[in-house]
Amino acid sequence: MRVLAVPCLSDNYAYLVVPDGQDTALVVDPSEAGPVLAALQRHGLRLGAILCTHHHWDHVGGNEALCAHLGPLPVFGHRSDLDRGRIPAQTHGLVDGERCAVLGLIVQILHIPGHTLGAVAYYIEPPGVVFTGDTLFLAGCGRLFEGTPAMMHTSLSRLAALPGETRVYCGHEYTLRNLEFAAVVEPDNHEIRWRRSRVQQLRDAGQPSVPGTMAEELRTNPFLRVEQPQVRRAACQREPALPLDAGPAEVLGVIRRWKDAY
Ligand code: ZN
Ligand code: FE
Repeated sequence: MRVLAVPCLSDNYAYLVVPDGQDTALVVDPSEAGPVLAALQRHGLRLGAILCTHHHWDHVGGNEALCAHLGPLPVFGHRSDLDRGRIPAQTHGLVDGERCAVLGLIVQILHIPGHTLGAVAYYIEPPGVVFTGDTLFLAGCGRLFEGTPAMMHTSLSRLAALPGETRVYCGHEYTLRNLEFAAVVEPDNHEIRWRRSRVQQLRDAGQPSVPGTMAEELRTNPFLRVEQPQVRRAACQREPALPLDAGPAEVLGVIRRWKDAY
Protein backbone atom coordinates (compact mmCIF):
# COMPACT_ATOMS: atom_id res chain seq x y z
CA MET A 1 0.00 0.00 0.00
CA ARG A 2 1.23 3.47 -0.88
CA VAL A 3 0.09 6.71 0.75
CA LEU A 4 0.50 9.94 -1.22
CA ALA A 5 0.03 13.27 0.55
CA VAL A 6 -1.82 15.83 -1.57
CA PRO A 7 -1.44 19.40 -0.27
CA CYS A 8 -4.77 21.27 -0.40
CA LEU A 9 -5.87 24.79 0.58
CA SER A 10 -3.22 26.54 2.68
CA ASP A 11 -2.13 23.78 5.06
CA ASN A 12 -4.45 20.78 4.61
CA TYR A 13 -3.54 17.34 3.38
CA ALA A 14 -5.73 14.96 1.45
CA TYR A 15 -4.24 11.47 1.13
CA LEU A 16 -4.41 8.99 -1.71
CA VAL A 17 -4.11 5.41 -0.52
CA VAL A 18 -3.20 2.94 -3.23
CA PRO A 19 -3.40 -0.78 -2.47
CA ASP A 20 -0.49 -2.85 -3.82
CA GLY A 21 -0.83 -3.83 -7.45
CA GLN A 22 -3.85 -1.61 -8.08
CA ASP A 23 -4.44 1.52 -10.08
CA THR A 24 -7.46 2.57 -8.04
CA ALA A 25 -6.98 4.72 -4.95
CA LEU A 26 -9.15 5.88 -2.12
CA VAL A 27 -8.87 9.44 -0.90
CA VAL A 28 -8.97 10.62 2.70
CA ASP A 29 -10.32 14.14 3.38
CA PRO A 30 -10.46 15.78 -0.05
CA SER A 31 -10.66 19.45 0.99
CA GLU A 32 -10.96 20.43 -2.64
CA ALA A 33 -11.27 18.46 -5.84
CA GLY A 34 -8.66 20.19 -8.03
CA PRO A 35 -5.45 19.02 -6.37
CA VAL A 36 -6.88 15.51 -5.90
CA LEU A 37 -7.86 15.21 -9.55
CA ALA A 38 -4.43 16.48 -10.58
CA ALA A 39 -2.67 13.95 -8.32
CA LEU A 40 -4.80 11.10 -9.65
CA GLN A 41 -3.89 12.07 -13.18
CA ARG A 42 -0.20 12.53 -12.38
CA HIS A 43 -0.01 9.05 -10.87
CA GLY A 44 -2.29 7.36 -13.41
CA LEU A 45 -4.86 6.43 -10.78
CA ARG A 46 -8.61 6.10 -10.65
CA LEU A 47 -10.63 6.98 -7.57
CA GLY A 48 -12.66 4.29 -5.83
CA ALA A 49 -13.85 5.78 -2.53
CA ILE A 50 -13.82 8.84 -0.28
CA LEU A 51 -13.09 8.57 3.46
CA CYS A 52 -13.92 11.55 5.66
CA THR A 53 -12.50 11.99 9.15
CA HIS A 54 -15.05 14.69 10.09
CA HIS A 55 -17.54 17.09 8.58
CA HIS A 56 -15.53 20.34 8.48
CA TRP A 57 -15.49 21.93 5.04
CA ASP A 58 -11.70 21.86 4.82
CA HIS A 59 -11.93 18.03 4.87
CA VAL A 60 -15.02 17.34 2.77
CA GLY A 61 -15.15 20.39 0.48
CA GLY A 62 -14.19 18.32 -2.57
CA ASN A 63 -16.65 15.45 -2.09
CA GLU A 64 -19.39 16.69 -4.40
CA ALA A 65 -17.11 17.84 -7.19
CA LEU A 66 -15.21 14.52 -7.14
CA CYS A 67 -18.47 12.56 -7.34
CA ALA A 68 -19.66 14.85 -10.14
CA HIS A 69 -16.43 14.37 -12.14
CA LEU A 70 -15.81 10.70 -11.48
CA GLY A 71 -19.28 9.24 -11.10
CA PRO A 72 -20.99 8.12 -7.92
CA LEU A 73 -18.49 7.03 -5.28
CA PRO A 74 -18.94 5.51 -1.83
CA VAL A 75 -18.37 8.28 0.72
CA PHE A 76 -17.63 7.16 4.28
CA GLY A 77 -17.96 9.04 7.56
CA HIS A 78 -19.41 8.57 11.02
CA ARG A 79 -23.03 7.48 11.31
CA SER A 80 -24.00 10.55 13.35
CA ASP A 81 -22.82 12.80 10.53
CA LEU A 82 -24.83 10.77 8.02
CA ASP A 83 -27.91 11.17 10.26
CA ARG A 84 -27.29 14.91 10.47
CA GLY A 85 -26.44 15.26 6.80
CA ARG A 86 -23.21 17.04 7.68
CA ILE A 87 -20.88 15.37 5.16
CA PRO A 88 -21.67 16.21 1.52
CA ALA A 89 -22.48 13.16 -0.65
CA GLN A 90 -22.00 10.75 2.30
CA THR A 91 -23.31 7.26 1.51
CA HIS A 92 -22.01 5.13 4.42
CA GLY A 93 -22.39 5.80 8.15
CA LEU A 94 -19.75 4.04 10.23
CA VAL A 95 -19.59 3.18 13.91
CA ASP A 96 -16.76 2.50 16.31
CA GLY A 97 -15.05 -0.83 15.93
CA GLU A 98 -16.45 -1.46 12.48
CA ARG A 99 -14.14 -2.95 9.89
CA CYS A 100 -14.96 -2.30 6.28
CA ALA A 101 -13.39 -3.59 3.11
CA VAL A 102 -12.48 -0.72 0.78
CA LEU A 103 -10.63 -1.56 -2.45
CA GLY A 104 -9.61 -4.82 -0.78
CA LEU A 105 -8.09 -3.04 2.24
CA ILE A 106 -9.49 -3.73 5.69
CA VAL A 107 -10.18 -0.34 7.21
CA GLN A 108 -10.84 -0.21 10.93
CA ILE A 109 -12.97 2.60 12.34
CA LEU A 110 -12.18 4.35 15.61
CA HIS A 111 -14.76 6.85 16.76
CA ILE A 112 -12.69 9.62 18.34
CA PRO A 113 -14.93 12.52 19.38
CA GLY A 114 -13.42 15.72 20.75
CA HIS A 115 -12.67 18.04 17.83
CA THR A 116 -16.16 17.17 16.50
CA LEU A 117 -18.65 14.65 17.84
CA GLY A 118 -18.54 12.60 14.65
CA ALA A 119 -14.76 12.46 14.27
CA VAL A 120 -13.33 9.11 13.22
CA ALA A 121 -9.88 7.73 12.55
CA TYR A 122 -9.20 5.15 9.86
CA TYR A 123 -6.63 2.51 10.75
CA ILE A 124 -5.31 0.23 8.04
CA GLU A 125 -2.90 -2.65 8.57
CA PRO A 126 -0.52 -3.93 7.53
CA PRO A 127 1.64 -1.93 7.61
CA GLY A 128 -0.19 0.12 10.26
CA VAL A 129 -1.22 3.55 9.06
CA VAL A 130 -3.79 5.77 10.72
CA PHE A 131 -5.57 8.84 9.39
CA THR A 132 -6.45 11.05 12.34
CA GLY A 133 -7.98 14.16 10.74
CA ASP A 134 -8.00 17.08 13.17
CA THR A 135 -8.12 14.99 16.34
CA LEU A 136 -4.44 14.01 16.60
CA PHE A 137 -1.97 16.25 14.81
CA LEU A 138 1.74 15.56 14.76
CA ALA A 139 2.86 16.92 18.15
CA GLY A 140 -0.57 18.40 18.83
CA CYS A 141 -4.32 17.92 18.84
CA GLY A 142 -7.34 19.69 17.39
CA ARG A 143 -9.41 22.35 19.07
CA LEU A 144 -12.34 21.18 21.15
CA PHE A 145 -15.14 22.52 18.96
CA GLU A 146 -17.81 20.04 20.01
CA GLY A 147 -16.32 17.74 22.62
CA THR A 148 -14.99 17.97 26.15
CA PRO A 149 -11.42 17.52 27.38
CA ALA A 150 -12.48 14.13 28.79
CA MET A 151 -13.73 12.99 25.37
CA MET A 152 -10.53 14.18 23.72
CA HIS A 153 -8.43 12.44 26.35
CA THR A 154 -10.26 9.15 25.77
CA SER A 155 -9.97 9.51 22.00
CA LEU A 156 -6.27 10.36 22.08
CA SER A 157 -5.60 7.49 24.50
CA ARG A 158 -7.16 5.06 22.06
CA LEU A 159 -4.97 6.34 19.25
CA ALA A 160 -1.94 6.23 21.54
CA ALA A 161 -2.62 2.54 22.17
CA LEU A 162 -2.01 1.68 18.50
CA PRO A 163 1.35 0.02 17.82
CA GLY A 164 4.31 2.40 18.16
CA GLU A 165 5.36 1.89 14.55
CA THR A 166 1.95 3.01 13.25
CA ARG A 167 2.42 5.84 10.78
CA VAL A 168 0.29 8.85 11.61
CA TYR A 169 -1.21 10.96 8.83
CA CYS A 170 -3.08 14.01 10.12
CA GLY A 171 -5.26 16.69 8.54
CA HIS A 172 -2.99 19.74 8.66
CA GLU A 173 0.65 20.77 8.40
CA TYR A 174 0.84 22.27 11.89
CA THR A 175 3.82 20.26 13.10
CA LEU A 176 6.43 23.00 13.49
CA ARG A 177 4.09 25.30 15.38
CA ASN A 178 2.97 22.38 17.53
CA LEU A 179 6.56 21.46 18.38
CA GLU A 180 7.29 25.08 19.26
CA PHE A 181 4.42 24.96 21.77
CA ALA A 182 5.44 21.49 22.99
CA ALA A 183 8.88 22.90 23.81
CA VAL A 184 7.26 25.61 25.93
CA VAL A 185 5.27 23.00 27.86
CA GLU A 186 8.31 20.72 28.26
CA PRO A 187 11.48 22.81 27.98
CA ASP A 188 13.64 19.88 29.16
CA ASN A 189 12.35 17.32 26.65
CA HIS A 190 15.25 16.83 24.22
CA GLU A 191 13.17 14.65 21.91
CA ILE A 192 11.00 17.68 21.15
CA ARG A 193 14.03 19.74 20.16
CA TRP A 194 15.48 16.97 17.98
CA ARG A 195 12.16 16.41 16.29
CA ARG A 196 11.76 20.11 15.69
CA SER A 197 15.08 20.34 13.88
CA ARG A 198 14.26 17.26 11.77
CA VAL A 199 10.86 18.69 10.82
CA GLN A 200 12.42 22.08 10.10
CA GLN A 201 14.78 20.39 7.62
CA LEU A 202 11.88 18.63 5.91
CA ARG A 203 9.85 21.83 5.66
CA ASP A 204 12.86 23.81 4.40
CA ALA A 205 13.18 21.18 1.65
CA GLY A 206 9.50 21.62 0.78
CA GLN A 207 8.59 18.20 2.18
CA PRO A 208 5.57 17.41 4.34
CA SER A 209 6.22 16.49 7.96
CA VAL A 210 3.80 13.56 7.67
CA PRO A 211 3.87 10.77 8.47
CA GLY A 212 5.09 10.61 12.03
CA THR A 213 5.04 7.45 14.10
CA MET A 214 2.90 6.85 17.16
CA ALA A 215 6.08 6.19 19.14
CA GLU A 216 7.34 9.70 18.28
CA GLU A 217 3.98 11.12 19.32
CA LEU A 218 4.22 9.42 22.69
CA ARG A 219 7.63 11.05 23.23
CA THR A 220 6.86 14.56 21.97
CA ASN A 221 3.11 15.31 21.90
CA PRO A 222 2.08 17.11 25.12
CA PHE A 223 -1.56 16.07 24.61
CA LEU A 224 -0.52 12.40 24.77
CA ARG A 225 1.74 13.12 27.75
CA VAL A 226 -0.75 14.57 30.23
CA GLU A 227 0.18 11.88 32.75
CA GLN A 228 3.85 12.86 32.71
CA PRO A 229 4.83 14.79 35.86
CA GLN A 230 6.52 17.57 33.86
CA VAL A 231 3.38 18.18 31.77
CA ARG A 232 1.19 18.20 34.87
CA ARG A 233 3.61 20.61 36.53
CA ALA A 234 3.45 22.95 33.52
CA ALA A 235 -0.37 22.80 33.61
CA CYS A 236 -0.39 23.68 37.32
CA GLN A 237 1.89 26.65 36.68
CA ARG A 238 -0.32 27.81 33.85
CA GLU A 239 -3.55 27.50 35.85
CA PRO A 240 -2.70 27.52 39.56
CA ALA A 241 -6.37 26.79 40.38
CA LEU A 242 -5.97 23.29 38.92
CA PRO A 243 -6.69 20.91 41.83
CA LEU A 244 -3.77 18.82 43.02
CA ASP A 245 -5.72 15.65 42.36
CA ALA A 246 -6.77 16.74 38.85
CA GLY A 247 -7.04 13.85 36.43
CA PRO A 248 -5.33 13.60 33.04
CA ALA A 249 -8.42 14.94 31.23
CA GLU A 250 -8.32 18.13 33.31
CA VAL A 251 -4.61 18.51 32.58
CA LEU A 252 -5.40 18.09 28.90
CA GLY A 253 -8.06 20.79 29.22
CA VAL A 254 -5.50 23.22 30.63
CA ILE A 255 -2.92 22.46 27.93
CA ARG A 256 -5.58 22.83 25.23
CA ARG A 257 -6.74 26.24 26.58
CA TRP A 258 -3.11 27.27 26.79
CA LYS A 259 -2.56 26.29 23.16
CA ASP A 260 -5.76 28.11 22.09
CA ALA A 261 -4.25 31.30 23.46
CA TYR A 262 -0.68 30.62 22.32
ZN1 ZN B 1 -11.63 20.24 11.60
FE1 FE C 1 -9.29 20.97 9.50
